[in-house]
Amino acid sequence: MKLFRKMLIANRGEIAVRVIRACKELDIKTVAIFSDIERESLHVRFADEAVCIGPADSKYSYLNIPAILSAAELTDSEAIHPGYGFLSENPQFAEACATAGITFIGPSSESIGIGGDKAKVKQLLKKQGIPVIPGSDGPVESEGMAMKIAKRIGFPIIIKASSGGGGRGMRIVNRKQDLPQALQMAQGEALTLFGSSEAYIEKYLPSIRHIEIQILADDRGNVIHLGERDCTIQRRHQKLIEESPSPVATAKFRKKIGELAVRAARAIRYKNAGTIEFVVDHKQNVYFIEVNTRIQVEHPVTEELTGIDIVKEQLKIAAGYPLPYKQSQIELSGHAIECRINAEDPEKFVPFPGRIAFFLPPGGYGVRVDTAAYTGWTVPPHYDPMIAKLIVHGEDREDAIAIMRRALDEFIIEGIKTNIPFHKKVFSHPDFIKGYFNTNFVDKINPPNEK
Ligand code: ADP
Repeated sequence: MKLFRKMLIANRGEIAVRVIRACKELDIKTVAIFSDIERESLHVRFADEAVCIGPADSKYSYLNIPAILSAAELTDSEAIHPGYGFLSENPQFAEACATAGITFIGPSSESIGIGGDKAKVKQLLKKQGIPVIPGSDGPVESEGMAMKIAKRIGFPIIIKASSGGGGRGMRIVNRKQDLPQALQMAQGEALTLFGSSEAYIEKYLPSIRHIEIQILADDRGNVIHLGERDCTIQRRHQKLIEESPSPVATAKFRKKIGELAVRAARAIRYKNAGTIEFVVDHKQNVYFIEVNTRIQVEHPVTEELTGIDIVKEQLKIAAGYPLPYKQSQIELSGHAIECRINAEDPEKFVPFPGRIAFFLPPGGYGVRVDTAAYTGWTVPPHYDPMIAKLIVHGEDREDAIAIMRRALDEFIIEGIKTNIPFHKKVFSHPDFIKGYFNTNFVDKINPPNEK
């Protein structure tokens, strides 16, 4: 199967390496792009060609649409894979690729646009009968309107930026008197972070799990799901550990949430790989929260469980091939868990960039490490501090936890600080081992006043 002759990867770090690997196995030539401080990065070394597209500041490099498109044209690339972050959920970028006659590996710019407007997609799916968290119908326009909604749903509430992402642009409000200032601040933050002050309101649910469904959809109307990922272990609404199956999911629950996700994907005419995110309360009520219209950081968890290479599927779908599986052919085997290894101070959770004096990833049965780090590489301060993903696959949850503990013990990273000590703490915590946790777990084991 010859999918594409040459592909440009509009990203850096481990995801660029991940995509290059898939391309190599499919006999597709690869083009890396890099900012001028990343000449020595692994994605540059692994790609067949590499083009410097600007300075360290991602605004002028990894987010620079004209520079990336001219690199694609200069190297005669037929397709562009955006990875995650950067331009991956930018409808203008997908559109610009289409205009330039380059295949964008992902959904249409329309679907990206719908998914990127969190308030709008929520409203759209609510109309389709998908359960959503009570709150405003669309963006809140005024303080008066916010007050009215808060009165109806009751405090605490959460104000969310319509164009938010990555756990940013959210604000919890516990008391009526704090609402006016919180709304103003949330809208101001949204404008600075995402270029739009639009925000919406939801009831804040205090005890929930984050459970998401991996979707694959081709352009012939076939949509399937690859089971769930439980991403409840978060800090500041950012995921730290993901696993599948969820410790709380029964086969019946999986069928229900999987079908909801497929319905949601169909409702927005989704194509390619994507994720439908839900939160689930202690009574197993499921509420849609958002769509991620790209490959996700935690996709390897699902790959380990299903034996399906999601990046290769993305490329096949983009090249126009039909999905080779039916829903009934998807089997989940064993248990997979991923830890995000960040260059950060594990006590304070602040980034810790610098030169890695020694890097020795773990190996052995059931262990996969997706990384672009190596001994002597300098973690730049300009980008996301995640430097590796440690993924394990065991017979069952207990086995996966045992493999993860062993792998975390083996992982040697010297010269910088990482959150490996934090992960070790989680994997020996009795509640985590029993599967008893919600999104407040990290604050429980690392109370904010101790940081
Ligand atoms: P982002 O797009 O920034 O990732 P999400 O809407 O996906 O934001 O939410 C991220 C996380 O924030 C969720 O996984 C959940 O832990 C928390 N969260 C979101 N909405 C609510 C809510 N209404 N109540 C409680 N927690 C929430």
